[in-house]
Amino acid sequence: MTRRQILVTNDDGIDADALLPLSAALSAVGDVHVIVPERNWSGASHSITLFRPLRCRPTELRNGHAAYMTDGSPTDCVRLAVLGFLKQKPDLIVSGINRGMNLGDDITYSGTVAAAMEGLLSNIPSIAISIGAFGGDIDYSVAASFATLLARNVFERGFMSDALLNVNVPSLPREKIPGVAVTRLGKRNYQDRLIERLDPYGNPYYWVGGPALSEQADEGTDVEAVRKGMISVTPIRLDLTDHALIESLAAWDWGWTAPVTVSAEG
Ligand code: MN
Repeated sequence: MTRRQILVTNDDGIDADALLPLSAALSAVGDVHVIVPERNWSGASHSITLFRPLRCRPTELRNGHAAYMTDGSPTDCVRLAVLGFLKQKPDLIVSGINRGMNLGDDITYSGTVAAAMEGLLSNIPSIAISIGAFGGDIDYSVAASFATLLARNVFERGFMSDALLNVNVPSLPREKIPGVAVTRLGKRNYQDRLIERLDPYGNPYYWVGGPALSEQADEGTDVEAVRKGMISVTPIRLDLTDHALIESLAAWDWGWTAPVTVSAEG
């Protein structure tokens, strides 16, 4: 049987410590191709490069595993791979392991999730995976082995759907994680602030952002699952249509009079 082809990408860039443990773990289930941005694109969402060419340079991970880095976005990495940079179209795309969870509305900003969205748009099973930790000294082994378990399931079940899988793994030792919860998106409330400062020339500049202070841990949500120390798996579709609103919006008075049509037959 031909080996499964797995594309690993991320939005944290080539320097991300997660790339080595993730690609090493996934090598147990297929051939792993690493194509990642050369810098950190966290928060880049689904951006693509349109008005300049892309470079894609060979490099290697610390264990010597071949990798490529591009000057494009996470989504560009997937487009490159799928449109022919890889000799074979990937059978699975794994984006991550992102430093910091992607819960609730975070997914609308996330470059990690966007890369998986791009995989889904290319009809390839796609997983975005994030860990609840920041900084340099993170143990990725549990998240990497869960990604591998998911990959095995995808291949053995022939999983393909209209959804990507958004996975969040608490930064805990395996024995402290009580299980896996399949969830829906929850709500995270960020305490965003605008901080204005002055540069040495007297010109103002701004920091925008803040921590997630309160989270509504509603039952069944990703937020609740990770709060309980569980691994959260959320199936995410790209159709953002509010189907319930279609009918009531259609009843609005749009103040629009249909133009008089002149029939050809007169
Ligand atoms: Mn990131």
